Amino acid sequence: MLLAHRIKLDPTLEQHDYFARAAGTARRVWNWALAEWQRQVAAGIRPKAIDIKRQFNRIKYLDPDWLDAEGQPWLRNIHRDAHAQPFANLAKAWRRYFEQRRAGKPAHPPRFKKRGRCRDAFYVANDKFRLVGAKVVLPKVGAVALCESLRWTGKIQGASVVREADHWFLSIQVDVSEIDARLRRTGDGVIGIDLGVSCAATLSTGEKVQAPRPLKAALRSLRIRSRRQSRKLEAAETIAGINGRIPKATRLPVSKNRTKGAKGLARLHARIVRVRQDFTHKLTTRLCRENQTVVIEDLNVSGMLANHKLARAISDVGFHEIRRQLRYKAARYDTKIVLADRWYPSSRLCSGCGVRKGELALGERVWTCGSCDAFHDRDVNAAINLQRLATGALAARTALPVAG
Ligand SMILES: [Zn+2]
Repeated sequence: MLLAHRIKLDPTLEQHDYFARAAGTARRVWNWALAEWQRQVAAGIRPKAIDIKRQFNRIKYLDPDWLDAEGQPWLRNIHRDAHAQPFANLAKAWRRYFEQRRAGKPAHPPRFKKRGRCRDAFYVANDKFRLVGAKVVLPKVGAVALCESLRWTGKIQGASVVREADHWFLSIQVDVSEIDARLRRTGDGVIGIDLGVSCAATLSTGEKVQAPRPLKAALRSLRIRSRRQSRKLEAAETIAGINGRIPKATRLPVSKNRTKGAKGLARLHARIVRVRQDFTHKLTTRLCRENQTVVIEDLNVSGMLANHKLARAISDVGFHEIRRQLRYKAARYDTKIVLADRWYPSSRLCSGCGVRKGELALGERVWTCGSCDAFHDRDVNAAINLQRLATGALAARTALPVAG
């Protein structure tokens, strides 16, 4: 079982600087490869990542684009893995795009990466680094301090050095044996969870799990700060005499104040991600640890995200992430995840008598069953109906068992 452990790095200033340059190189190589890929497609050639990489290897020490001011190839200062991996990544991205499209799922082809707009990262192959105590020895930069030691034992597959706001992390992929990966379950219950907007998760036990307060507070200050930041940008545009859309290749004068604001905003974003991750990890671990079966709705998340009013709230709770975590953790706890059919009317069935209510507006948080007079909390009722899917008490034929 492939598990990843992300460990915060504590680099020196020089190491920090190298990481930024290596990530920048990986981005530039990706863009070069993508441009070449597109050129070949336009020319009627069927591109192959390996051929494009060979092409790049032929020019990378010669082409003026890849030489520094002294005419030296700067790629020599960056470890090979950082500029070899983007080709494999690009091939993977195209493959995934075509798979998604074939499956009729929304997909976009690989895009060019913009500085400051993409994830800064570069790859290191498993034989190019080693862990020594609380340090990792990386090519070109030597030993870098780790903030914690590797959690898993198993075969190390590779690692990426990734930036988040102004911190760098080492993400190590480890192939852990099924036995080592197994975790002990503490309960054998069957639970239904209704992932919601007003409340992050409602359990069939009646418990409501709220998203953490720090998240709400951080989101509020995010709104304020991004508004402030866009005002600064507007001001810069006015000074530059630009109205509306900024034409490409226009360089706005960079003010110190704006840069500072952008950095603060990036830090805040990173913090929101951390708080949210912490919350979903605790929730999904708990659900898998305490239950034999977890039933969730197969929500059409992308469809719902198209509805703007709901979009913000839903993406805040991180539906996708909760489901992703449930799936891989379930495998470790030997817990079964049951996905309810997208059309299963979990909200509209009465969990008391099973009669289906005709209409239920999104705003109706509570309702009374016309047939048995049971009074329902919308979310609790939905969670109970989901739980029943797995216990077979209700139309079990709509249950779709999902492995892993
Ligand atoms: Zn009823």
